[in-house]
Amino acid sequence: MLTGKEQGKKYTEQIFFELQAMPVESRRIIRLTFEYPGVKPTTIPCCLLKGDSASPRLWLEALIHGDEYDGALACLDFINNLDLHDLHGTVLVFPVINPTAFFAYQHGSPYDGNINLNRVFFENDNTGYSWEYGRFLLELAENLADFFIDYHGGSKLNDISRYCMVPNVGNEVDSYINDLARKCGLQYIFCDHNDQNGNTGRLIVALAKKGIPGILLENGGGIAWDKDCVERHVESVRYLMVETGFLKCGEHAPESGFYFEPEDYVYCEHDGLLLYHIPLGSSINKGDVCLKYMDVETGEIFEVTCPKDGCFVYCIHTAAVVRKGNFAMAYAKYPEGVMTP
Ligand SMILES: [Zn+2]
Repeated sequence: MLTGKEQGKKYTEQIFFELQAMPVESRRIIRLTFEYPGVKPTTIPCCLLKGDSASPRLWLEALIHGDEYDGALACLDFINNLDLHDLHGTVLVFPVINPTAFFAYQHGSPYDGNINLNRVFFENDNTGYSWEYGRFLLELAENLADFFIDYHGGSKLNDISRYCMVPNVGNEVDSYINDLARKCGLQYIFCDHNDQNGNTGRLIVALAKKGIPGILLENGGGIAWDKDCVERHVESVRYLMVETGFLKCGEHAPESGFYFEPEDYVYCEHDGLLLYHIPLGSSINKGDVCLKYMDVETGEIFEVTCPKDGCFVYCIHTAAVVRKGNFAMAYAKYPEGVMTP
């Protein structure tokens, strides 16, 4: 059996060939199959949308985390509705890039214990399904993507605000993407150092280190996709496509909101039933109740409160079932100079 990288190389060549052979302004779907010992082959669709030429190539993907659904619908919107007459270059769309996780209703694949697929993309010799599948995807992406967009959302348990993460790797990609991040109408821009503990290995970071610019877009959440979040995801990418020249025409975005540094993540301490959560984006101060749930064994009510003044919530638990250790919320401080509502 070929390695993940070798399998990626094979499809890279096939896709180059397909793109050359396709007439201008045409679309077609191909299927990529990744094989790994002991499990069913993993097959994903890739829709090739060719505008006026085979390059430059935009890579658009969703569901690298298997329970973040809104981006997949946004991908389908591009597949079905993008006017190829307006497209410069080509878009490669992957609506469901991590299908084994998707069918397990979870972040990561069930084949190797829910490993976060968006943390495997760094130099390593780890073995296992997700690590090898990551090498397959990285081989494809680094050869095929001139620009990379990764749709994310809050997960089946959480809702998340509309913001982006940008790479921060110390080369020319950083300033290029930061400039674009301000021009796609987002609520916030997340300042990530990308190399802090536990946060290495994102695909945008791996590609940025190789000089390929990319952006990670967050929005949505819940066990089903949401029409408004899907529309916002579509809108953000259209703005990015105008700014990067992939779309020959289209509106420019209102300027994105402020940069923030993540302050803290809060976790639930009991198993329970969610009774209340504050709305996403709420301004909160020390002691404000953000979440309430009932312990299902004792009937006791527990509250999750904000530990600091001058903050806002950018991700919140919304699912009825609360498990000890579940993420409760993520909050950040309003930056200096930003008017708090
Ligand atoms: Zn995600």
